[in-house]
Amino acid sequence: MTYRDDDVIVPDHHVMDPDSSYVSRLIEGYDITGIRRLFQSHDSSAEYVRRRLSVAPTGALNMETTPLTLETAAAHVEGIVRETIGEFGLLEPNEPILLGLSGGVDSGSLLMLLAAYRDAMGADGPLIHAATFQDFDSKWSETFDFARGLAERHSVSHHVIEAGYAEKVFHLNRPMAQILMHLMETDDAHLAMYADHHSTRRVLEVYADELGVKKIALGLHTTDLLAGLLNAYTTGFSVGPAPSRRVGPYTYVLPLAFTPKRELHLYYTHRTGHTPKQTTPNQWEFNPTDRNFYYYMADQMQWYWPGIENWMFTAHARTAPDTAPRHEQCGNCGGSVALQTAGSDTWSGWCDVCRLLDRHGWIDR
Ligand SMILES: [Zn+2]
Repeated sequence: MTYRDDDVIVPDHHVMDPDSSYVSRLIEGYDITGIRRLFQSHDSSAEYVRRRLSVAPTGALNMETTPLTLETAAAHVEGIVRETIGEFGLLEPNEPILLGLSGGVDSGSLLMLLAAYRDAMGADGPLIHAATFQDFDSKWSETFDFARGLAERHSVSHHVIEAGYAEKVFHLNRPMAQILMHLMETDDAHLAMYADHHSTRRVLEVYADELGVKKIALGLHTTDLLAGLLNAYTTGFSVGPAPSRRVGPYTYVLPLAFTPKRELHLYYTHRTGHTPKQTTPNQWEFNPTDRNFYYYMADQMQWYWPGIENWMFTAHARTAPDTAPRHEQCGNCGGSVALQTAGSDTWSGWCDVCRLLDRHGWIDR
């Protein structure tokens, strides 16, 4: 609380009067000086200082700081991913795995990291398949070429999923890309992103079935997952554990769970020799606006508590009520739906996305 001239409370927005005296008081009982000391930056020419705040069983706080160059940061990220895969048993020896590869920073880095892991494992390494979705102009786009080149350079088998594939899986009467654009002009605009994400994952699953693969790797990193947890905690919807979750007959693995976006950026820059191109998010990724806010909050949380993911994800994996949720299968797309206890809707036989698409008349019955 801030006071002017001893006893006048100063509101949040106030123009300071040079003739007054101001006093701010910390009205909660904690040691702010002690906390701030943990964050004091050490003079360093390092390109990146990695911080991790840990809490000992005695309650003692310890801030671990590791100054890193681009090169040591990249080696560090490889180490973290290797540890994540090992510690959580994400991959069995020689297991085939399918990776959704858009060509962006996240999935591109994941491909390079999985390839590095495979090479380090020698004969026990996983067999990596990558699939890229063909959109309107992807055949000519740079990211598309980049995805193909990246897969080739790292000896990963690469497949292009034709635009019509989603139409078949979802029984659509027009292309998915067109549907998403249409959706943006309706009152359901805030659902377009969920429709996009769900259809992408479901198409990956169907392609995985074709390959006989049961494990799917996604390039979700720390910030993505923290934002999702915040959403789940504040709405009461249950979300599966990280870095590995069962969804119906598939296991999704998230090897980047303990790699914050910033470190992924450094890794990508080091390995490719260029700064990732910041692609403009799709129209539907700014709407719903709550998603923006969850991402902002997830970033702030990591700033105030570097390494919070190590605590939140492991705690969630242990305490989540839905570590093995009950799934129903959607009668249209075949996707698995985890039944929620929060929204006590009765199961209608179709997933939310298929019901949405049907409401707009885009599904051929
Ligand atoms: Zn469905």
